[in-house]
Amino acid sequence: MLQLFIPLNFLGFVYRELKKSLADTARMFRLMDIEAAIDDAPDASALAGRRPQIRFDHVSFGYQPERRILTDVSFTIAPGRKLAVVGHSGAGKSTLARLLFRFYDVNAGHISIDGVDLRDLQLASLRDAIGVVPQDTVLFNDSIEYNIAYGAPGAQPEAIARAARLAHLDGMLAQLPHGLDTIVGERGLKLSGGEKQRIAIARAILKNPAILIFDEATSSLDSHAEQAISAALSELAADHTTLVIAHRLSTVVDADEILVMDEGHVVERGQHAQLLAADGRYAAMWRLQQREAQAPIETDVSPAGA
Ligand code: ATP
Repeated sequence: MLQLFIPLNFLGFVYRELKKSLADTARMFRLMDIEAAIDDAPDASALAGRRPQIRFDHVSFGYQPERRILTDVSFTIAPGRKLAVVGHSGAGKSTLARLLFRFYDVNAGHISIDGVDLRDLQLASLRDAIGVVPQDTVLFNDSIEYNIAYGAPGAQPEAIARAARLAHLDGMLAQLPHGLDTIVGERGLKLSGGEKQRIAIARAILKNPAILIFDEATSSLDSHAEQAISAALSELAADHTTLVIAHRLSTVVDADEILVMDEGHVVERGQHAQLLAADGRYAAMWRLQQREAQAPIETDVSPAGA
């Protein structure tokens, strides 16, 4: 799915970069930043707020003019709050994140942060303010400490250890003879998807961005790993304006608002309890999860029958 992020004319470039040492989606975004020809408006301002408000206002978008992906999507994430987006594969969830990162510009409507249209913000300051925990974190062949500190040059060992603790990595680290110095990646210790995502969460905790995008991994997690991820995410989201693209209900129950998307439309919205009471699609997903909880497999929040 990574390739789908990439405008065609950059495919060759990014493929070569990927083969070299693409660390994760966030790094890819930075590479694109160098190549992308989005010029700042002459009077573009820098994003300053620590707990910004994010607003999507009647946003419509298609990667190609003939195929609309998002239609009239509106929502507000209040400062420091968490919005979760659920829906079946291809509903347009990740596209929201790409637009917020200004990987593409909207075709209609506006996206604003603290009332300033993204197109009037300096791109570098926008992207600096956003931390991405991607679906698939590819680790460097280096220590866990290095991988956590990546993106926060000069981080002190105590701060790195604290980030690891808040990301619920300490149980795993305690079992490793070399702890944070353990080498991971292709030529080191192989970590599970859940462990890798927790390293990405620790990295984001250390970076301490104003805005957080959490793109939940779809890969199977056992319930212990799922709980650890949820707990780590709660730590991380506590003080950040957060957009969560969710595949598991455990990640969304505490969200301030949940959007249920289908084919680029918001078809339901509300908090967990409200959506259960409404007894619509979300409630159907919830019942599905309850049934699947009997079996020791990952619960996906795709609408039934999707
Ligand atoms: P998933 O749960 O599988 O991650 P999603 O809801 O996040 O799915 P998106 O990645 O937002 O879905 O994709 C929405 C639609 O846009 C899909 O039909 C996808 O094929 C299409 N799409 C995504 N990226 C591109 C692209 N770069 N060019 C053209 N179409 C794209």
